[in-house]
Amino acid sequence: MIDAERLKTTFLSLVQISSVSKKEKAFSRMLRQRLKDMGARIEVDDAGAATGSDTGNLIAKLPGNRSVPPLLLSAHMDTVPPGEAVRPVFKDGVFRSDGRTVLGADDKSAIAILLESIRVIQARNLPCPPLELVFTVCEEDALAGARHLDFDRISARFGYVLDATDTEGIITRAPAANRLTFHVVGKEAHAGAAPEKGINAIQLACRAIASLQLGRIDRETTCNIGVIRGGFATNIVPNRVTAVGEARSHDEAKLERVTGSMVAAFKDCIQAEAAPGSEGGLPRLEVQVERSFPKTHIPEDHPVVRLAQKAAEALGRKMVCKASGGGSDANIFFEKAIVAGVLGTGMRDMHTVSEWIRLEDMVRMAELMVKILTLHAETG
Ligand SMILES: [Zn+2]
Repeated sequence: MIDAERLKTTFLSLVQISSVSKKEKAFSRMLRQRLKDMGARIEVDDAGAATGSDTGNLIAKLPGNRSVPPLLLSAHMDTVPPGEAVRPVFKDGVFRSDGRTVLGADDKSAIAILLESIRVIQARNLPCPPLELVFTVCEEDALAGARHLDFDRISARFGYVLDATDTEGIITRAPAANRLTFHVVGKEAHAGAAPEKGINAIQLACRAIASLQLGRIDRETTCNIGVIRGGFATNIVPNRVTAVGEARSHDEAKLERVTGSMVAAFKDCIQAEAAPGSEGGLPRLEVQVERSFPKTHIPEDHPVVRLAQKAAEALGRKMVCKASGGGSDANIFFEKAIVAGVLGTGMRDMHTVSEWIRLEDMVRMAELMVKILTLHAETG
């Protein structure tokens, strides 16, 4: 049913148009044309301005041929760097880059699969529900595109995000995450002539970080310090250092607890150093805690899960509910009351120059999408 050769050609042409986050315009133009040729009504929202991208999120609507509730189908257009001038290599059924760049299967495999499954449905005049296809910008930039999606343009209440590996899994649980930024302010001094006048912000931050429990806290909770910046020269006692970290959990209460304990650890270290009545209130701590993304928890008996399972069963396959440690656009949709399960495309080793994907997995996924769409159209 699926035209593997056509799917292969589509995927090869998609990955060769670069679309690193914030530079998705050329790719979006090409995709718009393909969708128009399939009869879709195209809209581009204003997310470009808010995200710093050269274009907005691309929304394509297809009316379908059954009057059932519309389905949202979503993938992201952007890739991580290095993603310019990708030269894909196809050998023994596997796509890879030439080793200089990522391949971009994350998430162009999803886009190729969606295009192929719709083409099959149209060519065979199969039952098709109304479709709202959402192709986001800047997903790799903390889900910025989805965050600024114009949700007034979307009427679908449920659907699927294709942005994972496992072709026999549906991600129904993803954690909430907080981003923490700590600025430790010390006091500058000449490190050789008057070190006693200084307060070393790097040392203070290091003490705080060393006292943290990082990594896996429990089965559903993690935390990390991933960035540290500060200092100018070896002969200056550094007066400012910034540490940026995150905490994630499937449980809100645990997330708040871990976030709180990270902040407390920094506060304790600063307080231990602050002499009573110290000049200018130094050392000092400035903390920002932001919500990176809210958690997703789709009940296992939700229609979106059941539909994917029924489609998989009809093809003699499994569809297992899974928890993810990462966030995706589905987290943002969930917050906006759009329930979207995350499906896999077979992509592997994403965010590395060794990224690869099997054509066979993409074919399987396109078959599943055709099944999902026709089943939904028939049963509503
Ligand atoms: Zn992705």
